[in-house]
Amino acid sequence: KRRLLENLLSILTIAGVIVGIVCGVLIRSGSEEEPKPSDELVKGLRIPGDLLLRGLHMLVLPLVMTSLILGLAGNKRSKFNRQAGLAILYYLSTTLFAAIIGLILVWAISPGGTPEAQRSQGEDIDVSNTTVLDFIGDMIKNLIPANMVAMSHMKYRTVYEDNVVFEEPVEGMNMLGIIFISIAFGVIIMANREECEPFLDFCKSLNVIINKLTRVVLWYSPIGIMFLVMAEYTVSDIGEYAKEILLYIVTVLVGLAIHFFVVLPLILLLLAKRNPLPYYRALLPAMATAFGTASSTVTIPLTMKCTKRAGVSADVVDFIVPVGATINMDGTALYEAVACLFIAQLNDRQLTNPEIVITALTATVAAIGAAGIPSAGLVTLVMVLNAVDLGTEHIALILTIDWLLDRFRTMTNIVGDAVGCAVIERLSGSSCPSDNDEPEFQELKN
Ligand code: ASP
Repeated sequence: KRRLLENLLSILTIAGVIVGIVCGVLIRSGSEEEPKPSDELVKGLRIPGDLLLRGLHMLVLPLVMTSLILGLAGNKRSKFNRQAGLAILYYLSTTLFAAIIGLILVWAISPGGTPEAQRSQGEDIDVSNTTVLDFIGDMIKNLIPANMVAMSHMKYRTVYEDNVVFEEPVEGMNMLGIIFISIAFGVIIMANREECEPFLDFCKSLNVIINKLTRVVLWYSPIGIMFLVMAEYTVSDIGEYAKEILLYIVTVLVGLAIHFFVVLPLILLLLAKRNPLPYYRALLPAMATAFGTASSTVTIPLTMKCTKRAGVSADVVDFIVPVGATINMDGTALYEAVACLFIAQLNDRQLTNPEIVITALTATVAAIGAAGIPSAGLVTLVMVLNAVDLGTEHIALILTIDWLLDRFRTMTNIVGDAVGCAVIERLSGSSCPSDNDEPEFQELKN
C-alpha cells in the first residue's frame, strides 16, 4: 500500500508539471484584444505556488539543524570523517566534470559563433565583489554567522568603495553558517553527551515534528508545483539574438541532459552499485519540486525524504543532502562554463587554453559559492567573466531566459546530491539502517 501511495505521489507530481505547462501556455496565448494574462490573474496564480515555497522554506532551518546535529551525535567520529572526506572529493570532482562537459559542448556547438557587428549590447550589471578571492573570502566569513538568529535570513557581503571596506547585509538564508553551527553543535554534543542529553531529546522531537510536516508539504507539492510552473510568464523579447539564444539554450540543455541521464546514472551504477531507474523514480517528487521552485535550498526537505525513500540510510542523507544542496551544484557549474564561453563568442573573443582552464576552475568555485536560490548562478557568473576579462553586458541577454534554464540546472543539482548520498554510503561502508531512518524506508531497504 505504501508503495502504491508513493507511486501515486510521483504520478501526481509529474501531472502537476505537465498540467502547469499546458495551462500556462494556454493562458498566455490569450485573445486578440487581450494577448497577455491580466495582472490580477498572474498574481492570483502565484498564491498556491507561493504557499508551497513558504511551506518548504519554513522547514529548511529546523530540518537541516536537527538532522545534522542528530546525524553527527549518532555517528561514530571515524565514520563521519570518512564521509566528510568522500563528500568533498565527490562534490569537487563531479562539479568540475560537469563544467568540462559544458566547455566541450559550447566549443562543439558554438552557439554564439556568428556575431554580427553593431548589435545592441545591453547594460553593464553592477555587482560588487566579483573576483574569485573576494568571493572565497566572503564564503569563509559567512561560515561564522554574526548572529545565530539572523542567520536564518541574512548573510554578509564585503564591499570596497572609495578605498573603504565594509560589510553589507544581504537578504537570504546563510546556509554555510547554518551548516557550520550545526556541525559545531553536533561535535560539542558528542563530546559532552550526558549534559547535552536533554537538548538531544529536544532535537529528536523537533526532527520528528518537522518530518511529519514535510510529509504534508510533500502531498501538497503537486498542486503548488502546477501553479508555480503555470504562473511563470517571462516570455521575453530576445529579438536580434534569437538564433544565438536558441542555440545557447540547446547547448545548456544537452549538457545538462548528458550529466543527468548519462554521467550521474553511470556513477550510481559503477560507484554505488545501484540500479539508476528505481533510484531516479524515487526522486521524482524532489525533481519536480526543484523544477517548480528553481531552488535547491527549499527543495532540501523533499530531497532528503526522497533519497531516504530510495533506500539510503538517514545517517548519510542527513549530512550529505544539506551540505550538497549548498555547495554541490553540477548543473550550475556546467551552465556557468557554457554561459562564459557563449559570451566570449558573442564578443568575438577566442579564449586561450589557460583561459579555458581558468573558466573551468572558476565555474566550479562559482557553483560552490552560488546560493541554492533562483538565478543565483547568474550572479556568480560575473566572477567567472571577470576572471577571463569579459564584460558583463551580455548577462542582460541571458537573463531573459534564465528562468527556464534555472529549473533544469536546479533539477540536475539536487540529483547530483542524491546520487552523492548513495556513492558515499557505499564507499564509506555506512549502509546499515540507523535509528534515524523512518520505518517505511527501512522496509524499502530490506
Ligand atoms: N537555482 C539554482 C539552485 O538553487 C542555483 C543556480 O542559479 O544555478 O540550485
